[in-house]
Amino acid sequence: MRFHVVTIFPNMFESYFAESIIARAIKNKLLEIHTYALRDFTFDKHRRVDGRPYGGGPGMVMWVDPLIKCVEKIDKKIQKKKNTKVLVVMFNPGGDMFTNTLAKTVSKKYTDIIFICGRYEGIDARVKKILKAKEWSIGPYVLTGGELPAMVCIDAITRQIKGVLNTEDSIEENRIASHEIYARPEVYEYKGKKYKVPKVLVEGNHKLIDEWRKNHSTGKNVS
Ligand code: SAH
Repeated sequence: MRFHVVTIFPNMFESYFAESIIARAIKNKLLEIHTYALRDFTFDKHRRVDGRPYGGGPGMVMWVDPLIKCVEKIDKKIQKKKNTKVLVVMFNPGGDMFTNTLAKTVSKKYTDIIFICGRYEGIDARVKKILKAKEWSIGPYVLTGGELPAMVCIDAITRQIKGVLNTEDSIEENRIASHEIYARPEVYEYKGKKYKVPKVLVEGNHKLIDEWRKNHSTGKNVS
């Protein structure tokens, strides 16, 4: 899987992807993450990427041309590889809700995903039409830009790629996982009160443990 991120803030991505599971996956050649500085695709000396909206109103709109030029360049690079399947995604708080099911589907279906991170008021609507892009939202709130959504989606999709997590089993959705988890000590005392691990988890009856976990499961919020 190759991720391509179009942004005016490429530096934002460096520290997150340089650590932990994603860094290991990149090192093991399970994925690549490339960022593209949108301002490199402008032709005026101020390297502007945005202008005033038609119809008036506050906030600037990201221009079509630099985005198209940038994606054309990425596409050229992708087409040098064999058997590619490309998805273009724009971020928009009003887009299709990004879910774990979607993460799983796209992780299997595509070789390259191009993410376009919006800023300001958003992206000129013609970009979506020209690039036949999908629009994804990561939740019912408005952020200042598409960079965090790109990181969120890359993270969730990466987890679904075979070999990224240590064992297949680590993928919560493939087993009975609970969001309520405990490790040593069995009893933790704080300000005179005892906080105990549920008995069923210490007793070792795996059938009962699975049942308990099902009732305290991650699954209900992940689909
Ligand atoms: N005024 C716009 C919001 C623009 S927010 C509106 O009301 O729709 C600026 C950019 O941040 C968006 O273009 C998008 O790329 C990103 N963004 C903000 N919130 C988001 C969310 N919940 N999901 C995905 N992208 C989001």
